[in-house]
Amino acid sequence: LARNNQQVIMPSMRLITVAQAEKIILQTTKKARITACPISATCGRILAENIKADRDQPSADRSSMDGIALSYNIWKEGCREFVIEGIQKAGIAAKELRKDNGCFEIMTGGLIPKGCDVVIPIELVKIFGRSVLVSSAATIKRFQFIRKQGAEYKKGTIRLSSGTKINATHIAVAASVGKSNIKIFAPKIAVIGTGDELVELNRTPKIHQSRRSNAYALEAIFVSNGFPDVTRFHLNDNLSQLRKEIQKILKNYDVLVLSGGVSMGKFDLIPQVLRELGVKILFHKVSQKPGKPLLFGVHSKGQAVFGLPGNPVSTLVCAVRYVVPYLKKTCGQAINAPSVTLTSNVKQHPELTLFLPVKSRDGGYVLVESKGSGDYGALTPSLGFVQIPPGKGSLKKGTGVSFYSW
Ligand code: AMP
Ligand code: MG
Repeated sequence: LARNNQQVIMPSMRLITVAQAEKIILQTTKKARITACPISATCGRILAENIKADRDQPSADRSSMDGIALSYNIWKEGCREFVIEGIQKAGIAAKELRKDNGCFEIMTGGLIPKGCDVVIPIELVKIFGRSVLVSSAATIKRFQFIRKQGAEYKKGTIRLSSGTKINATHIAVAASVGKSNIKIFAPKIAVIGTGDELVELNRTPKIHQSRRSNAYALEAIFVSNGFPDVTRFHLNDNLSQLRKEIQKILKNYDVLVLSGGVSMGKFDLIPQVLRELGVKILFHKVSQKPGKPLLFGVHSKGQAVFGLPGNPVSTLVCAVRYVVPYLKKTCGQAINAPSVTLTSNVKQHPELTLFLPVKSRDGGYVLVESKGSGDYGALTPSLGFVQIPPGKGSLKKGTGVSFYSW
């Protein structure tokens, strides 16, 4: 009987799978906070509006060559000698052809003068003073070397879509359509380290202490994914302080990412405090390694609360595997981990999904050496981690697995 009882209360019985945890988290997402930002401060951020062309591109018919512009009909009638009526360089309004046998000298980007519908490259003509002789070898098609108005896109076309992570190419397009201010997603994220044993970076830790590295690592993950509105906090393992400070933070932030204090130890007070403050805990513990004690909840006012295990490797892995997809979804971004090929065999865990740091090798990925889940120094050569499903055997070299980059 005792043995049966033991089985019933085994903690692993209450574990949910990685897929279930992800599903629960993604089901709770709501649209992230939006703010307007000067264009020059938006690189790396997530676009929160569709940006449309404010005019046709090209805005009018333009030459794509240096040469002369003339009327195709006159050419067809056999005329090969033309009178230069003027110069049509880039940056001036379109001129107008006056004589039947007239032409314009034209430069790349110049507007096609009214009455002209052909550009002949400079290499095929000879200019004598004010006249032009076109080579008899020239073969000419109507509209040649003319970029027609709207050929690239029409006014009103969506040029950049909401959810895009803005890089230099997007800045170029946004600037070209005159967007000096751009709407971006700006969820306010509180990163909250916990633990009496942790000291600020500028202090020398005593033998029984460590530095508060997790908050900085978490901040870096969010910044690099386009979410730089991060404030760091540190709280001690003290019920009243945790209650008071987390309550304040809940009022001012959209997403809370706690690190530490969610395991089974006597000073792992986070689950209790969150419940007291009105956070509905949707799961606590996932069948995964590292990061088994992961907790996720939602406050009655809608804030998402992630309780990441404090072990630095667990914190990093859980942030990339769960918090980043949540943030992406709140911005309408696609969430898809690419499949990569293992270039060596990897032993599975019989019950737990493994997240294992990898580096690239031979066109695929291979595990980096590590001395266990606490060995976060071993992560630095890795590009990210792969997800290894539970099983009794090994995944063979050549198997495709999901990859998550740092
Ligand atoms: P906990 O999840 O609070 O039991 O913490 C597990 C381990 O991670 C302990 O050894 C902590 O000292 C360490 N740890 C927790 N939080 C941090 C942090 N912010 N920075 C570095 N290490 C941490
Ligand atoms: Mg702790």
